Amino acid sequence: MTQTKILLDESEIPRQWYNVVADLPTPPAPPLGPDGNPLDPSAMSAIFCDPIIEQEVSAQRWIDIPDEVREIYGQWRPTPMFRAHRLEKALNTPAKIYYKYEGVSAAGSHKLNSAVAQAYYNRQAGITRLTTETGAGQWGSSLSLAGQMFGIDVRVYMVKVSYGQKPFRRSMMQTWGGEVLASPTDQTEVGRRILAKDPECQGSLGIAISEAVEEAVSRADTKYSLGSVLNHVLLHQTVIGLEAKKQFEKVGDYPDMIFAPCGGGSNFAGAAFPFFADVAAGGKPVRMVAVEPSSCPSLTRGHYAYDFGDSEGFTPLTLMYTLGHDFMPPGIHAGGLRYHGASALVSQMYQEGLIEAVAVPQVATFEAGVTFARAEGIIPAPESNHAIRATIDEALRCRESGEQKTLFLNLSGHGHFDMASYDRYLGGQLEDYEYPQQAIEEALTRLPQVAMAE
Ligand SMILES: *Cc1c(COP(=O)(O)O)cnc(C)c1O
Repeated sequence: MTQTKILLDESEIPRQWYNVVADLPTPPAPPLGPDGNPLDPSAMSAIFCDPIIEQEVSAQRWIDIPDEVREIYGQWRPTPMFRAHRLEKALNTPAKIYYKYEGVSAAGSHKLNSAVAQAYYNRQAGITRLTTETGAGQWGSSLSLAGQMFGIDVRVYMVKVSYGQKPFRRSMMQTWGGEVLASPTDQTEVGRRILAKDPECQGSLGIAISEAVEEAVSRADTKYSLGSVLNHVLLHQTVIGLEAKKQFEKVGDYPDMIFAPCGGGSNFAGAAFPFFADVAAGGKPVRMVAVEPSSCPSLTRGHYAYDFGDSEGFTPLTLMYTLGHDFMPPGIHAGGLRYHGASALVSQMYQEGLIEAVAVPQVATFEAGVTFARAEGIIPAPESNHAIRATIDEALRCRESGEQKTLFLNLSGHGHFDMASYDRYLGGQLEDYEYPQQAIEEALTRLPQVAMAE
């Protein structure tokens, strides 16, 4: 019998996170302050606690995982890796497909990996309240649970359209003690200003971030927490790839290609960067593919430019691929992928040709998700379906060429709270939406003006 499930022992949970900055050929461009000059890290202290800021700007290759965080990781980590024998057979492909399943966390996705670390450091710093945003509710539920574990109150600004569409994600957050508001709210200046202009506004991640940041800045006991995009979040997620490397070692294999869904970029980075460490050290080349929706194609069609991380311009300016900070997302179902930008590190590596990106349309992602569920059993999150689509496409190319490639897929979460979206797919009601070129060109005119040193 060939092995299907590749497990690690609890003692094999990584003891350190991997920081890719140490291995980049060029140092990252600094974030800029409102005056256009490189930001002094201390300027971030209104919204982040010191240990988080330290990690955000660190160039140290290995960063210790605190024992308390590792102990909590032990509740669901190491996560299992599977060889997708049944999917390979269904596709009749000579490719070997492996997937790592992050849906075994209590919150149902990889996001708890960073939520626990962020709650831990904030608690250490004496913080008793955190604000955050959530789109589909994955991040909000992870932080609500992590806050509960460390005695921190969590207030979640949830994008209004999701608040209506995903009532059970909302009750999940409330079950774990999170306070959930539909954003835009009347609780912040930003929210009131937006509602005055458009009382029907359905919100966006950019607006929810602005609200959460505004509140954190205005209160001494409160910091802000972000579920993706930033360097420290990517860092925390590297437990995924570090474990995966050990799991490949156990079966004597190594990936030729890695696929992960890409919203802000944290689970992609978490799965791929530890393999990049091997590449940087002169190891075998690995193709790392970030998979995004064609309705929100920040990497594949966005501008590489300095832009804000939120809609109102409260955050520092970051050099990244962006569709414009005032991007209003179309109502696609992979809510976790509807961010206007991409992480600075992922953007830089894409710009330098170290990683690849591909955009896939919505209907094809659900088709892939259903194929996966029928072969492997697990019903994937709509976000994860993007990476499954790209993996299946590659496996089908291998069928044509006869290549026996090893493909590694990060199955970032389960779709148990997304069955309404599956319902629409199964009922033939889902549509594709190609983000219009005109909107991309217009966004360019509204990017903040920054003199870029080449
Ligand atoms: C949030 C989310 C993503 C995308 O976010 P990244 O920051 O790019 O990782 C992917 N899959 C699931 C299940 C998510 O919840």
